[in-house]
Amino acid sequence: MMQTLLIATQNRHKVAEMMELLPGLEMRVLTLADVAPEWDIPEHGATFRENAREKALAAATRTGLLTLADDSGLAVDALNGEPGVHSKRYASTDPERIARLLRALDGVPGDHRTARFHCAVAIADATGILEELEETVEGTIIESPRGSDGFGYDPIFQPLGGSLTLAEMSMEAKNAISHRGQALRRAARFLQSLLDPRETFRFR
Ligand code: IMP
Repeated sequence: MMQTLLIATQNRHKVAEMMELLPGLEMRVLTLADVAPEWDIPEHGATFRENAREKALAAATRTGLLTLADDSGLAVDALNGEPGVHSKRYASTDPERIARLLRALDGVPGDHRTARFHCAVAIADATGILEELEETVEGTIIESPRGSDGFGYDPIFQPLGGSLTLAEMSMEAKNAISHRGQALRRAARFLQSLLDPRETFRFR
């Protein structure tokens, strides 16, 4: 029987990005929309890692399924790492989150607008945590939004060394460099190693 994997998020943009990154994985993938659409998954941690862990454990315990959870957000140096784990709660819509962040950075010169996206991933089953990992992408917060793809803070985040914001890139180009892309590729290798334990030594 095919192994089932639950992706513990209600965020449909994240699910779309994650599905792109798990195409070769020989598992049936479900999301919270399939198993618990109304559930407000707990998130009380002070770090991305703690939140990913809490979400993975809560969903795996509740459903009994092998579960992958992520926690992500944007840390801005000039704001001492804020909005950080509060990225989603920073305002109620994406345009409002962007407007608040640009106001907070008003007058901050370009070379002091450095920031990074974090993505922590935890994989758990009913017995507990199986794997944890974290990846980042470095960049700059530009002065006004550009681009309409992606989600969240993508229109104001320009990865280091490039001239496009994440919202001006195709999903494929974003996933090639993003915090979530890097973390999910590592997670996919770990998950595949669960299916074929002979491969495990290559990934650990
Ligand atoms: P959470 O991981 O569901 O708690 O949400 C993290 C929040 O960080 C999202 O709602 C977005 O506002 C922001 N965020 C995380 N990843 C990205 C990304 O890839 N692009 C833009 N914003 C992101």
